[in-house]
Amino acid sequence: MAKTPRISIPKAVREYVLQRDNQQCRSCGATTALSIDHIIPLANGGSNDISNLQTLCCHCNSRKQDHFDPRFDQRFT
Ligand SMILES: [Zn+2]
Repeated sequence: MAKTPRISIPKAVREYVLQRDNQQCRSCGATTALSIDHIIPLANGGSNDISNLQTLCCHCNSRKQDHFDPRFDQRFT
């Protein structure tokens, strides 16, 4: 399976995801410091499709990153 290239998310897509999620973090409901997160990380075979994107605040996003051990990726590349 080809790896999904890491492209920057187009502004229109970011705005669509924010609107869909009511401009709130989907984990804690925060309305500030929001960012767009890949639900399945690209490194783990996730896509840039809207269905794989969600709104997370910086706090939840960094907590989620911690959850994925970088060594996990190396076993599959
Ligand atoms: Zn949050």
